[in-house]
Formats: sequence, structure tokens, C-alpha cells
Amino acid sequence: MKNQIRVRFAPSPTGYLHVGGLRTALYDYLYARKTNGKFILRIEDTDRTRYVEGAVENLIKSLNEVGLDYDEGPEVGGEFGPYFQSERTELYQRYARELVEKGAAYPCFCTTEDLEKMREEQKAAGTGIGYDGRCRHIDPAEAQRRIAAGEPHVIRLKVPMKGEVVFYDVVRGRVAFQWDTVDDQVLIKSDGYPTYHLANVVDDHHMEVSHVIRGEEWLSSTPKHLFMYQQFGWKPPKWVHLPLILNPDRSKLSKRQGDVATEDFLRKGYLPEALLNFIALLGWHDSGDRELFTLDELVRAFSFKRISKAGAVFDLEKLNWMNQHYMKTLDLGYIVIKALPFFQDAGLPVDDMEQLRLIIDFSRERVHTLQELAEFSKVFFTTPILDAEKSVFATQDAAQKIFAFWAEQIPSLDCNDDAAINALIKETTKVCGVKGKELYFPLRLALFGDYHGPEVAALLRIIGKEEAQKRFAGLLL
Ligand code: GLU
Repeated sequence: MKNQIRVRFAPSPTGYLHVGGLRTALYDYLYARKTNGKFILRIEDTDRTRYVEGAVENLIKSLNEVGLDYDEGPEVGGEFGPYFQSERTELYQRYARELVEKGAAYPCFCTTEDLEKMREEQKAAGTGIGYDGRCRHIDPAEAQRRIAAGEPHVIRLKVPMKGEVVFYDVVRGRVAFQWDTVDDQVLIKSDGYPTYHLANVVDDHHMEVSHVIRGEEWLSSTPKHLFMYQQFGWKPPKWVHLPLILNPDRSKLSKRQGDVATEDFLRKGYLPEALLNFIALLGWHDSGDRELFTLDELVRAFSFKRISKAGAVFDLEKLNWMNQHYMKTLDLGYIVIKALPFFQDAGLPVDDMEQLRLIIDFSRERVHTLQELAEFSKVFFTTPILDAEKSVFATQDAAQKIFAFWAEQIPSLDCNDDAAINALIKETTKVCGVKGKELYFPLRLALFGDYHGPEVAALLRIIGKEEAQKRFAGLLL
């Protein structure tokens, strides 16, 4: 179908899905779904020195886990494949040759030492650093001879030396660069593999990509890409460069300051719903000040118009708030399923579903993540261990009196009957002569391991009578 919107997420498989990559994939997804277009996953794996075992599987797994399904790409196929650049190298070779024949690229025989020396000289002279184009002037016949003789070489793009290059970016509008700041980019490396720049342009054209959505760090490469489109006589895609993602101190989001991998957030118990909602707002906002969106709502609301140019701060507190919101409001059955692995990892039993539902329904109101949920829920499974101060408190007469009374009463108490529980509490006031804190602190301490916390009735309902009795009896001297 001509004029169909086709967008691609084109990660280099370096090990994990960075949240910046996740945002690109999300915007691709939203735009494709909104326009009935296609969302493509293309693996840009031509840099063999950066190859990481399992990285592609990992990436696909992360995309699957958050529910960003793509229409074409690895595992699902499509008519524009293969979707791994390493399987398309012949194509890139062909187009590199075409550029050389057109005089828009040239073989460069400079060795690493040559380049090193050049850089040193440029540094000493205080001039701009970059390839100085010295192999541009080698006679083509001579270059052919050297190639035939097996001399190692790369192919470089021959960009204009002066003037201005102007293009339009959907987010930034008119963008201009001076050609003399753009270097002769290597297109084919000496190992025969293409660099990102050539492969990206060739594939975006062949895969009929209509919009290139990517991070701002690629903005300065766009002149080179545009130049290639022009040389090939191809229509360039529309460019949509997304703002940087920043740490709260406004430095570029980096691994050093915390988690950046999607899998880290999932492993810590952030829900895909929260993660996507949060990520969507890193550089985009709706017309009002609305912040909570399901994925479908994002599809409806999303537009390039509201992508900002300014960097977006990654605010972990906001993510926590959002995750808490989804933990509380999503279907309980779903939260239980999501929580199971976290309970298992925490060594908690997951065989009694009824009890688990009760616990999770109760605990989810009080935590931010699934990991915290499991941590918080431990107290319902294992008798709490009191610290020194609380242990002393538990040995005092007032507390001991209450423990003894409850240990005796609980066997005949219906723990699902709030009225009966309230009656017992009243009775305790009389029998033990305590009220307020003096009454509730010991009760909670025995049942929950802390003075403050949930309602006594709620605790009893969850823990059940047997365990509750054990907890009170266990504290008796
Ligand atoms: N492979 C590039 C990256 O890893 C893709 C950039 C682009 O989308 O053009 O970021």
C-alpha cells in the first residue's frame, strides 16, 4: 500500500533495552497504531565488535513483556526482510559501489596510525578534529589497483566541503548545519561490514520507512543521511528526533546513576502499564495536564505535535507514584499473576490462592512495586521477628496480659467475623484494663511485628486463626 505510515525501531543489540530505546519503540508503536501503519523491528547488528550474545533475544523479550508488538521483524517476518542487517550486507556493498561510481564516496587507505597522526597534528594546530579528506584525491584507477592488490581500505562518503545543509525535523522544524562541520563518514569498514549510516539509509529506503523516529543524538548525522538519499535519488523519510532523557541533575541519563534497562524495572516489579505510561510522558504530553493513560488511550492521544524539544527528566518518584496507582487499580487477578514470581523469589508459598488474593488485595494499597509487595507480605507468612526494643515491650506485664488473653480466646473466635473481633477487643479493654495505644500496640505487635499498621480485624482475616494463636502464644514468657 503506497503512502502507508511505516516506522521502525532499529536498535543495535548491545545487551539490553535502554529506556531511551523503549521510548522510541513506544512512540513508533503509538504512531503506527494511530495511523493504521506498520511498526517494524530491525536489528542493526553490523558492528561485529559490539556483538553481545543473547542481546537480540533479550531485546525482543523486553518488548514482548511490555506488550509492544511489532508487525514486521525477527520472529514475525514480513515482506521486507531479512530484518537483521548482518544478513543484508551484499545490499550495502552494492550501494557503496554505486556511490563510489557516482563520485559521492571514495576508498580510503589511511591506516589507524595515519589517522592517529593526523589527529595529533590537528590537535597541535588547534584546528577542527576530523578526517581531512586526504584520500579523496587518489586517482580512481590507482585506487582500483590498490584494492585489487588487496590493500586494506574503507569507503568514505564524500560530503560537500562548504555551504549549508537544511532539512526539516517534525519536532524541531528547520534544522541547518554547515557542511564543513560534517566529516567524510566511513560507510564500509575494512572488514567489509557497513557502518550504521549506510545500512540505515539503505534499509529505511528499502523497507519503505515513512518516518524515522529516533533520539536527538542522531540529529547531527542526518545531513550525511540526507546526502545519501539525494545521491541515490531517493525520497527521504520524515525525521522525528526525540529529546534527550535526563537525570534529575539534568545530565544525560546514564547507567551510573541508576537503572536504565527495561528489564531492570520489570525485575524490580514495575508493571508494564506503569512503565509505558511513564515513558510516554518523557518528551510528550497531552493537551491538558492529564498524566494517566492506558496504552490504548495513548494511541488515541498521541501526536508528534506535542513532542517537546527540551530534555525530559527521568523522575523515579513519579514512576513510583504511577506504579502504585496501577498496582491499586488494575484487576486483582492480574496483579496476583504478576506478583507470583516475586512471591516465589522471596521464598513465600503460593499454593493457597484464596489467601494470596486476600494478602495481595490488602498489601497492594501500601506499596509501590511488586517487589515491595512481596517484601511487605512476608509478615503474613512468617512470624515476625521483633527487634530489641520491641522484644522488651513485649515482655512487659501489660502486653503479656493481652497476649495471654488472646492466646486463650482465639481458638473460639471466627476470624472472618468483624463483629466478633470487635467484641473481643471490647472485652480485652475490660479484662486487661487497657485502651487506645496500650491495647492496639501489643495486638499489632503480635500479629504484624510493629506498633503501627493494618487494622487488627484485617490482620486476623488474612493470617487466620491458627497462625494468630501461634503468634500470641509464642510471645508468652
Ligand atoms: N541503531 C541505531 C541505534 O542503536 C538506530 C538509530 C536510528 O534509529 O536511526 O540507536
